[in-house]
Amino acid sequence: MQEDQDFSQFKLNKQLLTAVAEAGYTKPTEIQQKAIPLMLAGHDLFGIAPTGTGKTAAYVLPVLMKLKYAQDIHPRALILAPTRELVMQIDEVVRQFAKYTDLRCLPLIGGKGIKPQAEAAAAGVDIIVSTPQRFLDVYASGAFLPRFIKTFIMDEADKMMDMGFKGQINRILEVVPPKRQNALFSATMPDRVAELAGDFLDFPERVEVAPQATTAETIDQLIYEVPNNRTKINLLLQLLQDRERFTRVIVFAKTRQTASDIAKYLQRKLMVPVRVVHANKDQNSRNNAMEDFREGESHILVATDIASRGLDISDVSHVINFDVPLVYDDYVHRVGRTGRAEKSGEAITFVTPAELYHITKIEELISKPILREAVPQEAIAEETPFEERQDMARELDRQKRKDNPDFKGAFHEKKARPGQSQPGKGGPGGPKFKKKGPNKNSKGGKIAGKGGKSARRKKG
Ligand code: AMP
Repeated sequence: MQEDQDFSQFKLNKQLLTAVAEAGYTKPTEIQQKAIPLMLAGHDLFGIAPTGTGKTAAYVLPVLMKLKYAQDIHPRALILAPTRELVMQIDEVVRQFAKYTDLRCLPLIGGKGIKPQAEAAAAGVDIIVSTPQRFLDVYASGAFLPRFIKTFIMDEADKMMDMGFKGQINRILEVVPPKRQNALFSATMPDRVAELAGDFLDFPERVEVAPQATTAETIDQLIYEVPNNRTKINLLLQLLQDRERFTRVIVFAKTRQTASDIAKYLQRKLMVPVRVVHANKDQNSRNNAMEDFREGESHILVATDIASRGLDISDVSHVINFDVPLVYDDYVHRVGRTGRAEKSGEAITFVTPAELYHITKIEELISKPILREAVPQEAIAEETPFEERQDMARELDRQKRKDNPDFKGAFHEKKARPGQSQPGKGGPGGPKFKKKGPNKNSKGGKIAGKGGKSARRKKG
């Protein structure tokens, strides 16, 4: 790897570089590439970057570099975030990178008593990560003096505005010293955020990484229109048997369950190690899986969308979308894993009749049609299980209703056959994986069910 592409290009100290390497980050993401040097040089920063782009490390690393080591008892850096969950995530990133320093980070969040947090603050802290109100509450308790805060980061500013935190933010701005370095990150830039940036930032440098709505020219994209989920799994297996063509493959699935099931199935059938990353796995096992894939220990990685953003694994020959992402930008992110750095790559998407609707939307987003490829006859499973048919019919009705609210729908007239569980009414739900051979007693989990809930879950 060229030196100017890795983290050693930044003027970070050894403690930080070691922690970065341990986190498995080899190459800075675009926002890191742009933001880290500017922040290290002391500029205020206005970053337009959605979650998943690596924005957290983009500001955490410069903050840690600036603070260097523990000092006195009052906080010197403040990171504000709109939600408890995000505060805890940021705190985790800070701890991960501060591992080889003695810097003290304290997360302050509501929902718990103030006293322990105030006591922890009073014991000495370098960095506070907090929701706006809790910062004010702990400050009001007299636990710390804000006058030493010289670095102030606001993350997900658009969300903070949506959640009505402007008043709290104004009060915080009154108690921190006027001379500070500031950075504001936001996924979008509505007027309210622009206004806040105007109040908060001093001659900021602006950096932007849009969720690219165009896919790289070097990526061939194609679609297999399949009748059912069974065909997807057959086809996946058939494609991956071609080791010469499919040298390094990421398979994306909508749900964690599907991802795990696919990984187990492929491992069993292909008898090669297959790695899986999704949000249920702890960070360590995610890192190990990524590392194995990066190092070539395993040439197949099955992932949900958490892995599709921010990560840069080079030389991926193929991205296979086992199902169509319902968040259309995710398609672009998933496909972006291949064809990186001007290398050619191939992105293949499996599409059932119920998913075609989303493909038309994706084609609108990327402003081009995606090529169709005929499904090899041997892969086609003629029979679509009853429940899967029902699911698809219901989904097709839902789509038609979305475009035409007056559409009555064909599905609601169909009655489940006696003895059949009605999907959505306590039945087992979506289709299942089946082992080859007798179709009974399959143990696999759900695949490509409605998936809406998990697919729309916030990423990052
Ligand atoms: P964020 O946008 O900060 O929420 O980061 C999204 C995900 O990308 C997190 O899981 C990070 O651990 C990961 N990530 C961030 N930067 C890098 C990098 N340079 N290399 C690999 N993974 C990264």
